[in-house]
Amino acid sequence: MIRKKVLVTGGAGFVGSHLCERLLNDGHEVVCLDNYFTGQKRNIVHLLDNPYFELIRHDVTMPFFIEVDEIYNLACPASPVHYQYNAIKTIKTSVMGAINMLGLAKRIRAKILQASTSEVYGDPLVHPQVETYWGHVNPIGERACYDEGKRAAETLFVNYHKQNNVRIKIIRIFNTYGPRMHPNDGRVVSNFIVQALQGQDITIYGDGSQTRSFQYVDDLVEGMIRMMASGEEFTGPVNIGNPGEFTILQLAEMVIRLTNSKSKIIHMPLPSDDPMQRQPNIELAKKELGWSPKIPLEEGLVKTIGYFDSII
Ligand code: NAD
Ligand code: UDP
Repeated sequence: MIRKKVLVTGGAGFVGSHLCERLLNDGHEVVCLDNYFTGQKRNIVHLLDNPYFELIRHDVTMPFFIEVDEIYNLACPASPVHYQYNAIKTIKTSVMGAINMLGLAKRIRAKILQASTSEVYGDPLVHPQVETYWGHVNPIGERACYDEGKRAAETLFVNYHKQNNVRIKIIRIFNTYGPRMHPNDGRVVSNFIVQALQGQDITIYGDGSQTRSFQYVDDLVEGMIRMMASGEEFTGPVNIGNPGEFTILQLAEMVIRLTNSKSKIIHMPLPSDDPMQRQPNIELAKKELGWSPKIPLEEGLVKTIGYFDSII
């Protein structure tokens, strides 16, 4: 095995911390870069004793110099509450972060993977979403700072590849959950579990008929590793998600059942531009990466509930 030196931006976040852990377990050297906007030291504190792990406080909107073999670019707040908190900063993080990391990849000839998102499809008119669908995004809506930032980042990646031969990989991640999500993150899985465990009302936005397809974090990390290792000609974008589609009401009922909670469901206003449905078509990932998710929602929720139970 060749020990690679790998940079993970956003490495102290929810997904990033699992990716750092997996890369170290696979025998690689990991540099974790984060500005701790939504990430936490607690997520990676257990890795600090490993001599092959290095932690750097840095903001990706500023240039960064290092020598590595591979870059996973994850730095960007992912929860609507957090990415809307400072919309300008969110779009800067996606766009300037992509420019800085692509410039770095170009200089040091590193392979670079972009954590893009199903949000590039917006409120989709094609269902399930295939990679060839261009999406349905409101460019001036509440979600635009995130959606358009990620779309522009994809454009930058593709053009650095075409113009400068940078070796790129783009994955479009669908809703992912698991241990180390921030309890106040505002995303639906963490909100419902925390509310159920604390006996608070479960807050469904709208009537709960909107759908999402939830992927357990270990499945995502496996997809990321496989994408990075795939043949150079395969740049993506490729959907990485679990096609199991559930309404938000079904999710609430499942969380209540699995936690044995006495919480009641209440309804709150649906945020603007909230996508009505979302489900990945994963045929491309199956064909190119031999990848498909392994962990059904109920099994992943049990593990995630165990985590939140231990920290709150
Ligand atoms: P997260 O908020 O837990 O992690 C993001 C990390 O990036 C945090 O540690 C944060 O501090 C860091 N960060 C933010 N701005 C930064 C900046 N300017 N400079 C340096 N670091 C910065 O979110 P996550 O769920 O772990 O998401 C990781 C990546 O995956 C994001 O790029 C996100 O857009 C993408 N993604 C996640 C999901 C999901 O469901 N979790 C879905 C689609 C895409
Ligand atoms: N949602 C909800 N209650 C909550 C948090 C979210 O009903 O407490 C809904 C939200 O309106 C959306 C879905 O759950 O329809 C998923 O929201 P999340 O923020 O997790 O992700 P995204 O909308 O970006 O897919």
